[in-house]
Amino acid sequence: MSDLILFWHRRDLRISDNIGLSTARQRSPHVVGIFCLDPDILEKDDVAPARVTYLIGCLQELQQNYQQAGSQLLILKGKPSQAIPILAESLKAQAVFWNLDVEPYAQTRDEQVSNALQEKGIATEKFWDQLLHAPGKILTLSKEPYKVYTPFWRNWSQELKKSPVQALEDVQGLNQQQISLAKEAGIIDLPTAKDLGYLWENPLMLNPGETAAKERLQEFCKTSINNYQEQRDLPAIDGTSRLSAALKFGAIGIRTVWQATLELYENSRSDEVRESIQTWQQELAWREFYQHCMYFFPELADGPYRKEFREFPWDNDEDLFQAWCEGKTGYPIVDAAMRQLNETGWMHNRCRMIVASFLTKDLIINWQWGEKYFMQKLYDGDLSANNGGWQWSASSGMDPKPLRIFNPASQSQKYDPDGEYIRQWIPELKSLDTEYLVTGKIPTSELRQCGYPEPIVDHKKRQAEFKQRYKEVKG
Ligand code: FAD
Repeated sequence: MSDLILFWHRRDLRISDNIGLSTARQRSPHVVGIFCLDPDILEKDDVAPARVTYLIGCLQELQQNYQQAGSQLLILKGKPSQAIPILAESLKAQAVFWNLDVEPYAQTRDEQVSNALQEKGIATEKFWDQLLHAPGKILTLSKEPYKVYTPFWRNWSQELKKSPVQALEDVQGLNQQQISLAKEAGIIDLPTAKDLGYLWENPLMLNPGETAAKERLQEFCKTSINNYQEQRDLPAIDGTSRLSAALKFGAIGIRTVWQATLELYENSRSDEVRESIQTWQQELAWREFYQHCMYFFPELADGPYRKEFREFPWDNDEDLFQAWCEGKTGYPIVDAAMRQLNETGWMHNRCRMIVASFLTKDLIINWQWGEKYFMQKLYDGDLSANNGGWQWSASSGMDPKPLRIFNPASQSQKYDPDGEYIRQWIPELKSLDTEYLVTGKIPTSELRQCGYPEPIVDHKKRQAEFKQRYKEVKG
């Protein structure tokens, strides 16, 4: 019997600290990687060119890493439930291994692939890798999934976490004859993002791949993590890790990240620094919380968690939505953030909250429009985190209290007091007084001169309007 194990990569685009891949290597010296370009994902209408560019970059490095370890990463294009069993059968693979995912589409797809492989007599094995604690491992006293973050964090942070696992090395790949068979079974050369119809030419916040992610983690741990508590909310400062895309695609293992934080924590003597490290750990827990929520409540992906919100009387004004997308609302902090998103494929977390509140509570537009627009732009776009962030901002999610309405001017004054972030992203406002920028109260004559729009809505009136509708919906 063949000893070949195929390892199917999905959101674990690395050879180090990869539980499923490491286990495959323990079982056999003959392990070959596969990645399947799935049209059901790549041809959806919410794909961000920046995200595809990051993905392809990660795959390029993964191919090199496989080669260095002695094997190959094979690329397929097509429905995984067809393409993978055809390849596995033609190579007479003993088994296909992969790491599990929480998303509803991924779960249905995986079941189809599993069934198709089983029909051909090929074994499958699955592992939890992308989370420090798999769904079902962190439950309330009555064995229910958590719906509120704080008690989830308390429980999650107490549980012992695994250390990073051994990287793939010294492994055997396909011989020439097997490569010919694989080609007949559908493997292709890795396409570029452009070949797939996606063009993104601006620099990404983080270069794709395992090396860049590890370097970024190291740099962050030497610098910004120490002031994270103080600086994480200041969008003009490079004060956060920018590891979100690496974590979404698994260019870095979550155990590697966690271990780095533990070492820092243990070696630090300052309470302030320790607090900063813990605050960052809490962000990693938010990531896990939203993934657990998506796993247990997959209906989140389709709409508001709270039923009453299904009937919410949104205005859904197309022109206002367009102005929001383009960063032309006349609210400088909102526009700066939307322009950062459009130009870089990334947006600072504080600003994600500000623009989400503005879309839902000032423009009274359905949060799902914003959720989709974010997915069309973000290079770290991730169903669980994005949906969680939007439902939190719209107050339609599991934990709606308190009703959060952000005042753009107060947010600017607090988090961008010198107007630095606004000036960076809205160059036409560069020479205006800071007071104008952060209060948003810019005289009409100045607005005309700069070619910048008047505010498209009145914040005070609109938030009162939202509150009224919210009260009615809540009954
Ligand atoms: P850091 O501050 O360094 O945080 C470290 C890591 O923790 C992040 O990389 C991320 O993996 C995780 N994390 C941090 N905050 C959150 C959070 N609130 N929810 C879930 N995970 C978190 N994050 C995404 O990864 N993808 C998304 O599509 C996404 N959409 C969002 C939409 C809205 C409306 C909001 C309010 C937040 C969204 N977030 C999303 C969460 C957060 O904004 C980003 O994770 C963060 O800005 C990424 O930058 P960073 O890597 O420098 O974060």
